[in-house]
Amino acid sequence: MKKFDAIAFDIDGTLYPNYRFYLRIMPCSVAHIPLLFAFRKMRKIMRSVSYTEDFYDAQARVTAEILRKDPAAVKRQIDTCIYKLWQPHFQGLKPYRGVRETIEAFRRNGYKTAVLSDFPVGDKLEGMQLHGIWDVELCSEQIGQMKPALKPFQRLADELGCPPERILYVGNSVSFDICGAKNAGMSAALIRRRFSFSGTGGADFVFRDYRQLEQFVLG
Ligand SMILES: [Mg+2]
Repeated sequence: MKKFDAIAFDIDGTLYPNYRFYLRIMPCSVAHIPLLFAFRKMRKIMRSVSYTEDFYDAQARVTAEILRKDPAAVKRQIDTCIYKLWQPHFQGLKPYRGVRETIEAFRRNGYKTAVLSDFPVGDKLEGMQLHGIWDVELCSEQIGQMKPALKPFQRLADELGCPPERILYVGNSVSFDICGAKNAGMSAALIRRRFSFSGTGGADFVFRDYRQLEQFVLG
C-alpha cells in the first residue's frame, strides 16, 4: 500500500540551491539593497500577523512602513525591482541533481505532485525545465498568506483533493515548511544538504539527495 497519495514541494532551497539564484541576481540587485532588506523584513513580519487586504497591498504597506515611504510608490518598486527584475534570471537555473527524475518516478507510480511556494512559481519552474510535471502549482501571492500559516497548506490539500494525512510536504525550512506542514496534519520531509546540530521540527524524513527521497516514498 502507498504511504501517500501526493508529494508536494517547496521550491526555493528545495528544488534548487538558493545560492545559485542569489549569485545571478546580485549584480542587478545592488542598486536596490535598502528595498531588499525591507522586503525581507516585511516577509518575516507578514508570516506572523494577519491582514485583510490584498496580499500585494499588504506587502507594500508593511515595506513602506519600514522604509517610511509612500505605499503606492513602494508597491511599484517591489514590482519593478524585485518581481520583474528577477524574472529573466530564472532562465537556465539548475535544479538539484535528480529532481526531475524523482518527480517523474512519483507520477509514474500514481502519486499526485504539487508545488507550494512563497514566490510566484510559473516562470521559475519553466526556467528550470521543471514545468508540466505538477498537478497543482500554488504560491502565497495567490493564496494571500505565507507559510507556515495553515491556510496555504489547507488550500494545497483542497486542490490536490487529498486529506492532509495522505500528503508528504518536502521543504528546506524547518520553521516554515516542516512546522507548517506538520501543523496542517501532513507528513514532512526535510532536505538538508549539510550536517547541522539544529532540530528537524519533527520531520518524518531527512535527506540530502533526491535518490534518498525517491527510495523513502517508493521503496
Ligand atoms: Mg525554501
